[in-house]
Amino acid sequence: MASEIKMVEAPAGHEGAGFFATSLDKVVGMARANSLWPLPFATSCCGIEFMATMGAHYDFARFGSERPSFSPRQADLLMVMGTIAKKMAPIVKQVYLQMAEPRWVIAMGACASSGGIFDTYSVLQGIDRIIPVDVYIPGCPPRPEQVIEGLMQIQELARNESTRRRNTEEYQLLLNSYGIQ
Ligand code: SF4
Repeated sequence: MASEIKMVEAPAGHEGAGFFATSLDKVVGMARANSLWPLPFATSCCGIEFMATMGAHYDFARFGSERPSFSPRQADLLMVMGTIAKKMAPIVKQVYLQMAEPRWVIAMGACASSGGIFDTYSVLQGIDRIIPVDVYIPGCPPRPEQVIEGLMQIQELARNESTRRRNTEEYQLLLNSYGIQ
């Protein structure tokens, strides 16, 4: 007589990713959000405003981001600030590719976001033409308060991101759309 296979129902409130996985996501998200190490890719005036943001008055350190990393291997937040010439674009992309997952990107200021006032043949009209951007900070230059707001938005993304998102087909398609394998 063929044995009958019975499916066991998950208890209420434990469906989907499961209790353990969702709780782990929260702990990892909290740790990531409060220890973002930015890599400042500064080329012009917006970089000066970033320096003001890092100073004691605005105190970027209170968000756990007091350690700017100039090695892409040890950074998880790429902050592009300033005009990016088309000749510089491959370098920005290379820096992005050298960062380990999970990584986030801020386009700080009008130039990094859209080319700004430099609507000319030699300037990249926004870094989102070469890499995915998570947060755009408007302004020319943005005030330090706006930079802090941008960082807090990245914290929100990091806090709520599933630890499995980077392995999904959707994320891979996003990278593929930028020619990244
Ligand atoms: Fe300079 Fe304005 Fe461009 Fe920032 S957005 S780099 S302040 S010109």
